[in-house]
Amino acid sequence: MARVLIADDKSENLYLLKAILEAEGYEVISARNGAEALGLIRTNLPDLIISDVLMPVMDGFTLCRECKKDTVLKAIPFLFYTATYTDPKDEEFALKLGAEKYIIKPQEPDDFLKIITESLRKKKAKPGKKPGDNKQDEAVVLKEYNEVLIRKIEEKMLQSERSEKELRQYSEKLEKEIIEHKKSEMSLFESQQLFKTLTEVTPVGIFRTNPKGETTYVNPKWCELSGLKPEEALGNGWIKALHPFDKVNVIRNWEKDIRFEGESNAEYRFLHENGDTVWVIGRAVPEIIGDKVVGYIGTITDITGRKKSEEALRGSEEKYRRIFENVQDVYYETTVDGIILEVSPSIVTLSRGAVGREDLIGKQMSDYYSYPDERNSFISMISDKGYVMDFEVSLAVSEGIIVPCSISSKLVYDKNGDPEKIVGSLRDITLRKEALNALRESEEMYRSIYDNSNIAILLTIPDGTILSVNDCACRLFGRTEEEICSLGRNSLVDLSDKRLDALLEQRRKTGKASGELTFIKNDGSTFQAEVSSVSFRDRHGNLKTSMTVRDLTEQHKAEADLIREKNKAEESDRLKTAFLHNISHEIRTPMNAIVGFSALLEDPSIDEATRASFIETIINSSNHLLSIITEIIEISNIEAGIIKLKKQNVEVDLLMHNLYDQFKPLASRNNIEFDMTFCPERDFIVFTDNTKLIQILSNLLSNAFKFTQNGKIRMGCRKTENELQFFVTDTGIGIAHDQLERIFDRFYQVEHLETRHFEGTGLGLSISKAYAELLGGRIKVISEIGKGSEFHLILPIERLPDIIPGRTQTDTELNFSRTVKILIAEDNINNFNLIKLLFKKTSIETLHAKNGEEAVNICKSEKNIDLVLMDLKMPEMDGYEATEIITKLYPQIPVIAQTAFITDREKALNCGCKDILNKPFSKAELFGMVAKYLKI
Ligand code: ADP
Repeated sequence: MARVLIADDKSENLYLLKAILEAEGYEVISARNGAEALGLIRTNLPDLIISDVLMPVMDGFTLCRECKKDTVLKAIPFLFYTATYTDPKDEEFALKLGAEKYIIKPQEPDDFLKIITESLRKKKAKPGKKPGDNKQDEAVVLKEYNEVLIRKIEEKMLQSERSEKELRQYSEKLEKEIIEHKKSEMSLFESQQLFKTLTEVTPVGIFRTNPKGETTYVNPKWCELSGLKPEEALGNGWIKALHPFDKVNVIRNWEKDIRFEGESNAEYRFLHENGDTVWVIGRAVPEIIGDKVVGYIGTITDITGRKKSEEALRGSEEKYRRIFENVQDVYYETTVDGIILEVSPSIVTLSRGAVGREDLIGKQMSDYYSYPDERNSFISMISDKGYVMDFEVSLAVSEGIIVPCSISSKLVYDKNGDPEKIVGSLRDITLRKEALNALRESEEMYRSIYDNSNIAILLTIPDGTILSVNDCACRLFGRTEEEICSLGRNSLVDLSDKRLDALLEQRRKTGKASGELTFIKNDGSTFQAEVSSVSFRDRHGNLKTSMTVRDLTEQHKAEADLIREKNKAEESDRLKTAFLHNISHEIRTPMNAIVGFSALLEDPSIDEATRASFIETIINSSNHLLSIITEIIEISNIEAGIIKLKKQNVEVDLLMHNLYDQFKPLASRNNIEFDMTFCPERDFIVFTDNTKLIQILSNLLSNAFKFTQNGKIRMGCRKTENELQFFVTDTGIGIAHDQLERIFDRFYQVEHLETRHFEGTGLGLSISKAYAELLGGRIKVISEIGKGSEFHLILPIERLPDIIPGRTQTDTELNFSRTVKILIAEDNINNFNLIKLLFKKTSIETLHAKNGEEAVNICKSEKNIDLVLMDLKMPEMDGYEATEIITKLYPQIPVIAQTAFITDREKALNCGCKDILNKPFSKAELFGMVAKYLKI
């Protein structure tokens, strides 16, 4: 391609020409003036030269001349391209200089190019013109050259002036335009700023996309809602912020909206990295410039709150639906007139399965009230107040099923304020009622315990103020409840009691405390009490304390008594042990005599007198043994409390004389002076137990003789107005003062060196004392060691004046007009023989049965038995069984039990025995019993 050099001092001309030529494929070399051009021409040898005329350093004419002068360069076509065309002579001058063409600006590019092409074609066809072909004179050329240049310069100056003027005008215009531009730029900036600020502060997310829907801009709010950074949102980056549940839908709809270039609306969620979900409503509209969619502008608005409340609403609706279906209470709706509109399914449970929801809808609510009163009250409450709260009714939900319910209802009004329906709930309060009744019962029970307790109960608050007390507390403190409660804190307690602080501390730590404390009564006296307190919270949560106070005065007294009793029992036990030792000796002594002398009797060689003395010894020893055993039985009977008095009229002088006679031989034997003083009138009679009286006085006399070696013993009786005072005095060993009380204790014997010299059981005085008391009297003793003793028996005088004095039972003889048959059931042959012997001189015939069975058989075989003496303890069949059979078969036969055991008595009487003979019994007792039942 051809190479073209362009010389022009104006760069815009250079740029324009260069652009046209290069577009056509020419290689272009450019120079800013003639001199630079000439240098480049020489080095590059272009195919064509285009030059301006007026240029600094070297003008175009000079350049042309220089080229045409050069033998190498002259062949290169030279074109002038100038705007300063002033005169045709200029073109003429240029052609003269050898230029191919003188082109005047502006020239159409196509025309310009045609000239270029033409010049190059011509160059190929013929070499370029040579300057000076016209053989013009150098001076003429110069002159012309100067003229042309001057013209050109003038023209140029004019042109410059014009241009300057135009330029000035243009620059003024430009300045105006710039100011205008600046202004619009400013307002644009301001509006941009405003837009920027708005987009930054707006509570709405804003985004902008290109026509393809790819994001080009997002505002901060958009980023906040989506959880993305602005750069992350660009393009399709925003998609990753979408909630997985919404992604597919949102993308599909967005693509569709873009395709149709329409508006886009959507509700969707963003899922943040931290798991938060943000609901938005999005809206985008196409941005149209001209009639072309250049993108979309859209907003997203946070609707999370709305969505949440919608969800909450849905949740709450669901929740209430579930409650409605599952709640135990029954929810119901009725019309204002009571027609049931809705009932929750729980009616099945409430009605014990009797009715379901469907059974009730459409029915009249009032029909289910058991009591018209309750129904009327409900209706009047709901119409008066518009609501009913926790009103108890009994509903007859079905035949025979009445459920106690608590009903709460209210009237619901429509938009116009008119009553629309009644809604409410029913609660089955069966359990509540039962619990309430149980509570009431238990309250009543505790109230009655509280009221009737014999322990004082106080209710206090922690500071010691008393709230209430029971009756027992009032009695204990000698004040009314009001008085006690108004006393103020801790007024009942003796605050100086050191145990108080410890008890309070104990209760503070553990909530309860117990111990002993000193309390103060109304009269100021104090007493010890056992106190036990427990703290509890009442139903309002207030701390209270219930305290029981048990007066220990009696208990302490009883304890002291008990200790005394215990000591006494221990002493008694000790005495009993001593007694057992003693008793074995006491029993053995007469037993030895009995056994020894009985054995001697077997010797056939002893004479009658010796035999008689042996027999006497045996009898005496037996009597002695019997008296010991009798004493033991007596004391047992006294202890068992089963001693019965047999009072009768007793001739006191006779009794005294008998006793005196009884002891007289003993006095003579022991060389003791023995006398008797007797004060009551002769034949003086008292109504008392003869046997017991004799026994007491015998005991006293026996002791007097036992403990008096020598000297004097006196017995006697004095009479006062109301009392008989028997006395026995001796001049014996006497009793120490400190022992005087104790000698009446059971088994007690004064210990002294000679003790074992005196026989005895230590029971005589305690028996005597007990008998004296049974007879309504007492025994007193005065004694001095070494000098003697004085025992007094004091008895009240009791008389039955209308009773004629007579002989005592001991003298009773049994004389019957016929032969009387008595069956003796007794396994011990000796006992049987004794009874047989006693009956010997009477008209009584005895029969013997060795056990119960024999007794029954004899009763059956011997038709006319008058009385049975029944031993209770027998082999084969005992006396109880035999008695039962006999009394059943022969109720007319009296059966008398004979026993040594007091425990048998009750049982014997229950089995049918008429009476009981205590073994060993005397002849008189035996005869008395027979006489009593065979009615002499
Ligand atoms: P016993 O005589 O069997 O020992 P008592 O109960 O009759 O039992 O008497 C208890 C004790 O009282 C006697 O052991 C004796 O020490 C004392 N005592 C009773 N009477 C007299 C008395 N008259 N003189 C001295 N001591 C007596």
